[in-house]
Parts: sequence; C-alpha cells; structure tokens
Amino acid sequence: MKIICIGRNYAEHAKELNNAVPEDPIVFLKPPSALLINNKPLYYPEFTQDIHYELEVVLKIGKNGRYVQPEFASEYYNQVSLGIDFTARDLQAKCKKNGHPWEIAKGFDGSAALGPFIALDKVNPEGIQFQLHKNGAVVQDGNTRDMIFSFNDIIVYVSRFFKLQMGDLIFTGTPAGVGPVAIGDKLEGSILTNTGWQSLLECDIK
Ligand code: MG
Repeated sequence: MKIICIGRNYAEHAKELNNAVPEDPIVFLKPPSALLINNKPLYYPEFTQDIHYELEVVLKIGKNGRYVQPEFASEYYNQVSLGIDFTARDLQAKCKKNGHPWEIAKGFDGSAALGPFIALDKVNPEGIQFQLHKNGAVVQDGNTRDMIFSFNDIIVYVSRFFKLQMGDLIFTGTPAGVGPVAIGDKLEGSILTNTGWQSLLECDIK
C-alpha cells in the first residue's frame, strides 16, 4: 500500500507559503508506517518544534492501473475520506533550502492521520466541502472545486510513474489556513455529505 500525496494543489495555500503555483502536480510519498487511524492521538515528536496540520480529502484506489487515460480515471476511486498531512515545517524548510528530499518532514510516524472512508456518492463529487476545527474553531474551510489538479488529473499523472494498486491512498492537497499545532490541541475534520456535515476524523496532540 502506498500513500501518495499531492503538494500545493490549492492556489491560496501555495500563496500562503510563498510557493509558486505548480505546472504539474507535486508528488511525494509517505510510508505506510505514517498512518494514524481510529482517532489515535499524535504524540509530538522530539525532532521538530513546528508541526503544521494540513487537512486533505483522501481517495482510496479501487482498481489496479498504469498509464490511466483521462476518460477512465474516475473508475479508479469510489471512496473518499479526510486525512491530515502532518508536516514538520521547520525540517521541511531545511530540506527545501538544501535541495534535499522531504521524507523526514512529511513521512514520520503518525504524519498521515486518516478517517474512515465513505462512498463517493455520499458527497457532491463536483465540489466536496470540508473543514478542520482546531479547539472548536474553524481553521480550514476548503472545497475540492478549488483544486488546481482534479482527482482525475492526479490519477492520470501519478499512474505514469507509479502503478496504482487497490488500497493505495491519495492525499489530494490542502486548502489555505494551515498552521501549527501544540500539545493539548484537539483537531476535528468534517465533510459535507448529502445529508449534512459529518465528522470523520479527530486527532488530539499529546
Ligand atoms: Mg499536504
């Protein structure tokens, strides 16, 4: 199982980190050991002083495929969830400055919090609205219609390099509003379904 992540997929978020809007999707991977499920807490690791939350819509791959063509891309996923791409922003800044890979800043244990999957037909596929609450206040409020690269664009692009396999996860990028977490914070991710808001993910920082 692979955890494929897309960076800078919302223009407003690229701007808030002073990054250019990319021409192709920015792709990185997290190891399976990064997964944090069942609303387990994130224990703040000792190697960073600046962990940020990034709430993202996550797709689960339902079918194997390579070089997926655009007209078939939507057949490769039918379940959706929310995840938090926890990022050690201080380590990431150091890696970027030195032109080094990001893995230690993005793929550490617990860096991929993930909620349970729901069927894609339970949400509006034209634009999935999702929110992150931190200690009860809304800090991110995104809609997938603002993505630079759509779900299908991502499937087409990523499958040129990595064979998609059933069960692979794709974190599709975060909207604006990212920020730091501190020990004691409570994070909650919610998605707008056809029957109203549904809380999918809770994560306490310990
Ligand atoms: Mg991210």
